[in-house]
Amino acid sequence: MAEKINETDQEWQKQLSPEQYHVTRQAGTEPAFTGKYWKTKDKGTYNCVCCGAPLFSSETKFDSGTGWPSFTQPVDEAAVDEHTDRAYGMTRTEVRCARCDAHLGHVFPDGPAPTGLRYCMNSASLDLKPAEKK
Ligand SMILES: [Zn+2]
Repeated sequence: MAEKINETDQEWQKQLSPEQYHVTRQAGTEPAFTGKYWKTKDKGTYNCVCCGAPLFSSETKFDSGTGWPSFTQPVDEAAVDEHTDRAYGMTRTEVRCARCDAHLGHVFPDGPAPTGLRYCMNSASLDLKPAEKK
């Protein structure tokens, strides 16, 4: 796995939009149906908006009806770190970028086959790199 990226909050703040900063560095959540990718069907790879690490493929994206981009699995198990999150009186599994610790969203056990998982992500954490046209 690639080396961890450690930037100060100040550096992230300079690099990111206020919304991207709030979601990725302060574990925020964008309002449903407002992000730029919840209904995107374009082919490509969703990279970490902070460090550019590839996180999710459009191949595993599905329409969850939640208003957030949802995936059945990351491109690689090692691409994300999962942590137990007990905020707001709920126990959820938080998903972070393994390389830079950006908050991405949460994973829930109610997704479709083949994994049965629903990676519920924030558009603000992702940067879609379109697949090259042949
Ligand atoms: Zn990252």
